[in-house]
Amino acid sequence: MRRVLIANRAEIATRVIRTCHKLGIETVSIYSEEDKNLPFASESTYSVCLGSGTVTETYINKSKIVEICKELDVDAIHPGYGFLSENSEFAELLEKNNITFIGPSAKNILLMGDKLESKNFVKSLGLPVVPGYEGDDQSNEKLVQEAKKIGFPVLIKASSGGGGKGMKIVREESDFLEQLSFAKSEALKFFGNDRVILEKYVLNPRHIEVQVLGDGQGNGVHLFERECSIQRRYQKVIEETPSKALDDKLRKDICNTAVNLVKGLNYKGAGTVEMILDSDKNYYFLEMNTRLQVEHGISEMITGVDLVEEQIRIARGDGLTYKQDEIRANGHSFECRVYAEDPENNFMPQSGLVENMGETIDPTVRIDTGYINGNIVGINYDPMIAKILTHDSSRESNLLKMKEALKDLPFLGVKNNRDFMIKVLEHPKFVSGDYHTHSLDSWMENLNIERKNVDIAFAAFSFVQSSKKKKSNTLEIVDPWSEGSSEWLG
Ligand code: ADP
Repeated sequence: MRRVLIANRAEIATRVIRTCHKLGIETVSIYSEEDKNLPFASESTYSVCLGSGTVTETYINKSKIVEICKELDVDAIHPGYGFLSENSEFAELLEKNNITFIGPSAKNILLMGDKLESKNFVKSLGLPVVPGYEGDDQSNEKLVQEAKKIGFPVLIKASSGGGGKGMKIVREESDFLEQLSFAKSEALKFFGNDRVILEKYVLNPRHIEVQVLGDGQGNGVHLFERECSIQRRYQKVIEETPSKALDDKLRKDICNTAVNLVKGLNYKGAGTVEMILDSDKNYYFLEMNTRLQVEHGISEMITGVDLVEEQIRIARGDGLTYKQDEIRANGHSFECRVYAEDPENNFMPQSGLVENMGETIDPTVRIDTGYINGNIVGINYDPMIAKILTHDSSRESNLLKMKEALKDLPFLGVKNNRDFMIKVLEHPKFVSGDYHTHSLDSWMENLNIERKNVDIAFAAFSFVQSSKKKKSNTLEIVDPWSEGSSEWLG
């Protein structure tokens, strides 16, 4: 593998370029006209402007990307996250054109991208899934009957869903049919298929995910867990590893479950097995993301493994570099995601100038960003400006380190959530590690954040959406408050 094209933008493109160059691999970046001043567009060995236009015309324009690969003699493509990273058709197209896709097989992307199929597969391996109904009989009578059997609250999920679309919580039987019809029509609109599954709605769960690597030959390893329960609107804001919720035995069980899935799939590359943990410490498979996650860096910090390097090694056929017992977790790591958004106005995404991010005094703080001072955070792409990562020997000392890091980094210019995150880090429940996926919502008053009414102006914002599982045009106006509107950032 001599030359890799990065089919992505901003921080993840910069991140991938860094590891490629470290391995002596040349890089090709592709960028839209709007992104021409972002660092990734000039950090690569070669770069190609895709012109202006929608995401469909630029970053996820499959045939254009293949054409560029041919012209520039590209051996492999790293898809980053979002965009084409979980698009099985793209993986197939590359295979046909003898270009290596740095990621899993098209078959595994397809299987894990479908809630029904993935759940049935996981069940067939004897791994724990949320109790529910995944049957063929989709009649109202049958679904009501099954919902009653599961017991309310029940969660209706679109079988081919993603990004929280087609997902409805039903608290009482009397609401079931109405919510079912909402879920079905949303599913049809977004995924062209109105089949649903039902699940027990787990109250106040913790989101625990396991970083895995597979060689495609039935071997797999894990790089421990990440806890991502600090979320607003199903979008992660602060992640940490190790999780305070797990003891050694539970950690071992959860990580082994994830590795069993990797082995069962003959999974190739890096992936993340997402689970929810209930208050009785039962854990259930939620979904597998068949790509690198935004928050992969905290796993790198505690293990010292470069996950992009492992993705490349696996894709070029070197197999797994590490045996399980060679992967050790040291200390604690946090990630805080700086978003251009207004916490005082329902986290409404913002656009504007990155005037001055500031500098950290501590050289061990890792800042993964796709921007430099003077760049504009535009309205057409995701509003994440930077990820701040810290590592220290204990959670307590690391918490202080992260707070200091954020204080050093004022992120002047476009309105953002940096001050908000400092407040979250100081919340007693966060300090004690006692939180779940709905905690942030319930802390808002405590954090002195006023919740204003929804401002209609946000409708002017259009967001890049993953092409994952979506049949419709991928550039669409999305309500940033809808559940998981930027799901691919997971
Ligand atoms: P999507 O693919 O649409 O994002 P997921 O199945 O990954 O949907 O779920 C998204 C989020 O919804 C999870 O992170 C979790 O917070 C919540 N969730 C999903 N399933 C359940 C459940 N059965 N009970 C409670 N919360 C759930």
